Amino acid sequence: MTQRARIFLFDTTLRDGQQTPGVDFSLAEKIDIAAKLDALGIDFIEGGYPGANPVDTAFFAERRTAKAKFTAFGMTKRAGVSASNDPGLAALLSAKADAICFVAKAWDYHVHVALGCTLDENLENVSASVAAAKARGFEPLVDCEHFFDGWKANPDYALSVAKAAFGAGARWVVLCDTNGGTQPSEVRAAVDAAIDAGIPGDRLGIHAHNDTGQAVANSLAAIEGGARQIQGTLNGIGERCGNANLTTLIPTLALKPFYAERFEIGVPIRAIQNLTRLSKGFDEMLNRAPDAQAPYVGQSAFATKAGIHASAIVKEPKTYEHVPPETVGNRRRVMVSDQGGKSNFLAELGHRGIEVDKADPRLDTLIALVKEREAEGYAPS
Ligand SMILES: [Zn+2]
Repeated sequence: MTQRARIFLFDTTLRDGQQTPGVDFSLAEKIDIAAKLDALGIDFIEGGYPGANPVDTAFFAERRTAKAKFTAFGMTKRAGVSASNDPGLAALLSAKADAICFVAKAWDYHVHVALGCTLDENLENVSASVAAAKARGFEPLVDCEHFFDGWKANPDYALSVAKAAFGAGARWVVLCDTNGGTQPSEVRAAVDAAIDAGIPGDRLGIHAHNDTGQAVANSLAAIEGGARQIQGTLNGIGERCGNANLTTLIPTLALKPFYAERFEIGVPIRAIQNLTRLSKGFDEMLNRAPDAQAPYVGQSAFATKAGIHASAIVKEPKTYEHVPPETVGNRRRVMVSDQGGKSNFLAELGHRGIEVDKADPRLDTLIALVKEREAEGYAPS
């Protein structure tokens, strides 16, 4: 068997995920979520921005993970001061973390407008910050913000930011689709360009947003191109349309033969069997209604309504299911409905432990009653 490439999963639920409107984690919630992600087998858990607010500063007062690399997020040093004289960088370097993920602007337009420093000063800020983190024993990562838009506008400069990070010793150079508008073919071309520029694929990561519904596809395109780290969030939370959904990516990488044959992840199969419960529990904590149509873990992910499908599913589940529901801890649901025939009812009754003969006249009475109720507006569950 050929050796599979290891894909590293980086969770940013507690940092980028907190940009979701209405989401504000307490310290206790951060501790709880970090423990669950650690138990799941995530490689990096980004906990927030120490020094930026009291909760994040308290969260980074001690290490919160046993296995995963506990990661602090923050800005590179400012222009005009040395790394040792920058208070923001000092707060970051005093965090009890294993890794530090710096955010660096990779689009020349943003350097001019938002940072107000020269393009060269920005490169120097990246290099000096990475070197300072490395010297203090942290694993340095650099999120190249707006990388894809920057690469389209000024490819040389976007790549020079990535190269500055790599050259200064960043373990991971993460290409970020900050505005979320990039398409998979463009991600693939940009990853190729970064590798051609001298950054090995096993040092590249992808951070995708879902503004065109492609965050998962873009993450997969990047690893097919050679990148080896994926950043995402639980249930795909995040600002606007969300971040790449790790709850979708994890089973895809582990269960879909195309990926499972080529790649391996740190999340074991038995932990994936707990994914539906983890996803639901997270929604409950956020007080959000779960997305019934969420891939793999949604209530409707393995539900069928039409009678002809239902009878086939009961006989041979593979006919209408792309993976067995129990592999992600979900279950098959045969919906009793207006369109459904007797087999739906028999399957659903069977699931509830009630065996009924197909010819039992009470079955027709039950079906008529349910259809009448549905016509009045009751919904099956
Ligand atoms: Zn982001």
